[in-house]
Order: sequence, then structure tokens, then C-alpha cells
Amino acid sequence: QRKPLIAGNWKMNLDHLQTVAFVQKLDWTLRDAKHDGAVEIAIFPPFTDLRTAQTLIDADKIPFALGAQDLSAHDSGAYTGEVSGAFLAKLACRYVIIGHSERREYHAESDEVVAGKVQAALKHGLVPVICVGETAEDLEKFGASAVPVSQLRAALADVKPDADIVVAYEPVWAIGSGQAATPQQAQDVCAALRAVIAETLGDAAASRTRILYGGSVKSGNIAGFMREPDVDGALVGGASLVVDEFAAIARYQ
Ligand code: 13P
Repeated sequence: QRKPLIAGNWKMNLDHLQTVAFVQKLDWTLRDAKHDGAVEIAIFPPFTDLRTAQTLIDADKIPFALGAQDLSAHDSGAYTGEVSGAFLAKLACRYVIIGHSERREYHAESDEVVAGKVQAALKHGLVPVICVGETAEDLEKFGASAVPVSQLRAALADVKPDADIVVAYEPVWAIGSGQAATPQQAQDVCAALRAVIAETLGDAAASRTRILYGGSVKSGNIAGFMREPDVDGALVGGASLVVDEFAAIARYQ
């Protein structure tokens, strides 16, 4: 009963002019392929592209949801360089990625910072896409699920049972490496993360919440992930920048 979600995290790629061509081409490609809305598609462009993407999506009734890649934990004020969830909500963003491993690593985002951003997203009516995942070193030391489980517990600390959230399991060693997890590895950790949701937010939240796999997803491996019972979609990086490839992933081909 969970609607699959195929999400494209553009990272720091495509400026607002390139966004026009990309969104239009993706729309035509999916229309040609008779995309029927059974799978939800979301794109996560850089902040500077969001207004452009919103305008196109509204004008042409393009059936993609829009999300941002980060937000501030604060509502407004003297936080130079930050972007408020309130602003994102006004740009018709439905989602916001929080705690991506690149932010945890290059911007020193701790579990506490991530938890604060989750609260900010929910406060402004955005659905947080909470990213968790272990490094290769973690995997060797603690196994696959220990770190993602503890990251998710921390992120959910003050979340209410009826909150609308998405969780993304992205093993750091699989991101941009061409070496995806196996469907079984993804399933095992996603099942452990669903158990964390059950324990912290209750069974109804656990059965309703979508858990995505991310890390070197492409058209050639998506079907295997989507067959797993606890994998409800994908958070796609590099392959989301190639229209035909992203469209094929959205069709699980
Ligand atoms: P790749 O699909 O390029 O491995 O990136 C995954 C990712 O980090 C999505 O958030």
C-alpha cells in the first residue's frame, strides 16, 4: 500500500537554465513511456533552480514533486547563507533531504543538527527525507545496520507518530562508487530501519513510511531493489542527471 518513490538528488549539478531543458525533456520522456503515476517521482535540484522548476511544473502540470537538498534548522534571521523551510514551502517543495552523508561529512552535520532540521521541516509542512548510512569502516567494525539504526533513532527523537516522513538508506561506500549494495543487503538494513520506526513512532507509522535505497542505483539494478518488501523506492544521484536513465529507473527498467 506504500506508493513507490523514485527521487533524483541532483546534488550540485545543473543551473537554472539547464533545469528548464532537463525538466521538460524528463516530462516528455515519461509521457512517451505512458508514466501513469503509480510511482511518485520527485526531483531535488539546487536551491537556485527551485523557482524555475516550480514555475515549469505548475505551468505544464508536470507530475513531479519538488524537493530541496537541505534547509536551515532556523525559521528566519541572522543566519547568512542559510535557507528557511518556510521559503521552501512557498516554492511548493513537498520534500527536503536531511542528513545526506555529504552534509554529515563535508559540513560536519551531527545527529543533533539532523534532528533539529527534521523538526524544522515538519514545522513548515515539508516531508523530511532522512538519510542514514554506514561508511566502509563502520561496515567492517559494526556490521551494516548499527550506524544507520542509531542515526535514525537520533533523527526521530522528537518526531510525533503521525508525522509524514521518508527514510533513505544510503551506504556511504555505495554512493558514487558504482558498487551498489545487493538487494538483500538493502532489504536487511531497510527492515532494521522499519523496526526503529515501529519502536519509536508505532506500527502504523512503520507500515506507512517509505524507506528508499540509495547508492549507485541505475536502470540495470533498480528492479532487484524494488522486489524487496522493505525497499519502497530509490534516492538516485548520478543517474538522475541523465534523462533516459532516470526515466528508465522510474519504470524499474
Ligand atoms: P549515486 O546514485 O550517484 O551513487 O548517489 C546516491 C546519492 O547520494 C543520492 O542521494
